[in-house]
Amino acid sequence: MVRPNAGTSDVGPGRRKVADRVSQELEGLILRGGFAPGDRLPAERLLAEQMAVSRPTVREALHRLEARGLVRSRQGGGTFVRDAAADAITDPLLSLLREHPDTERDFLEFRAVVEQQVAYWAALRATPPDLALIEHRLLVLERASEESEDLAVHAKADAAFHLAIAEAAHNSVLLYVVRALLGALRDDVYYNRKKLAAHRGSKEALRRQHRSIFEHVKAGDTERARDSARTHIEYLQETIQSYEHNAERQAVAELRLRHEKITDLK
Ligand SMILES: [Zn+2]
Repeated sequence: MVRPNAGTSDVGPGRRKVADRVSQELEGLILRGGFAPGDRLPAERLLAEQMAVSRPTVREALHRLEARGLVRSRQGGGTFVRDAAADAITDPLLSLLREHPDTERDFLEFRAVVEQQVAYWAALRATPPDLALIEHRLLVLERASEESEDLAVHAKADAAFHLAIAEAAHNSVLLYVVRALLGALRDDVYYNRKKLAAHRGSKEALRRQHRSIFEHVKAGDTERARDSARTHIEYLQETIQSYEHNAERQAVAELRLRHEKITDLK
């Protein structure tokens, strides 16, 4: 059994400083997306070994993170990453989208901006493990849209694919925003899919678009990655708009027909 740093400044008054460093390191890992909301942190003993400090120091560092709302320790053991920042953004946004469906257009417009930058940075910064994860999520998404009729399953896989690209962008602030939006994104994708499903050829078009984003990110082609992300969102915007115009025309035609029947009865 290794006793990391036994007898160094990690005991007595020095521990406070070491605990500062340890909590900063952990906080950095959480913010940069090394641990996702809901993830369980490694056990105290493991953290102590990895960071070459004593267990009481790790405990002190975790207490600080908990006091700041970044993690939560659960009864029965384990410290988990909290999703406080995401909840603070997502809850009001989700109710806005639910209560005012016309904000869907604004949401897509915002997504277009975010997704283009996400793809650009991902093409610039994605590491081999990032690319492996994106490709895995892409395959899951492709399989879901081939094998499942459940639109909620498609939506979840679609959102997970876009989140993997956001992770590969390696920008902690952007990742926070995208994670916070994930719930809304999932809703949005679901909402979109119902409208998209009515559009002929949409399944193949979406498949091509997602693959194109992945291929250009993988190739490190920042401009084309950004263009494919824009094409993807523009396709969603146009398809949804034409669906809504159709729905409007349908409503007008039905009204006309009803009017016709009423005059017939006279
Ligand atoms: Zn998508």
